[in-house]
Amino acid sequence: MGTGHIAFAALLDHLAGRESAQVAAHVAACESCTHEAAAARRLLEAGRRAATAPTMTKKQRRTARSIFKQAFAPPRVSLLKMVLDSLTQPAPAVRSGAPEARFVRFEGAVTVEMQISKAPRGVEVRGQVTPADYATRVEAEGTGRRRTSAIGPDGTFLFRLPRGETDFRIGNTRINKLRL
Ligand SMILES: [Zn+2]
Repeated sequence: MGTGHIAFAALLDHLAGRESAQVAAHVAACESCTHEAAAARRLLEAGRRAATAPTMTKKQRRTARSIFKQAFAPPRVSLLKMVLDSLTQPAPAVRSGAPEARFVRFEGAVTVEMQISKAPRGVEVRGQVTPADYATRVEAEGTGRRRTSAIGPDGTFLFRLPRGETDFRIGNTRINKLRL
């Protein structure tokens, strides 16, 4: 290197990974080049940040999306969980009550019970929402059609529905793909 200082480009190369024992030795002994090396390091770090900033990781994107959703989306719809289906878990007490009907019970943000019985061209669904004032109506959607039933003061609702997979929506809560 002689008596001259290290070129800025050589400092960058050195710091960016193309390390040189000569450069290292000079910088260690030279106050001016130590100062220049610090500037070169800041420049490299800024360059790396700039290069990586626009490309978010998947996790960062997910986080950003969830923050956006929490801030701007309407309240999240929750799913009710089926806790009883007399069709698949026939409880003797339930079955003996009304052998023609099937009982299903869902729990979550609310409790929903339904008695499903045969009706002309489909089924009749008599249900009850607890607490009764959770919502004013129940929507049922299956095979392309949406139907609505008011929820009575005692929490009851009533549908005549075709057979097939049906989604129910009660306020911000839903039941997905109940097979009627
Ligand atoms: Zn120097």
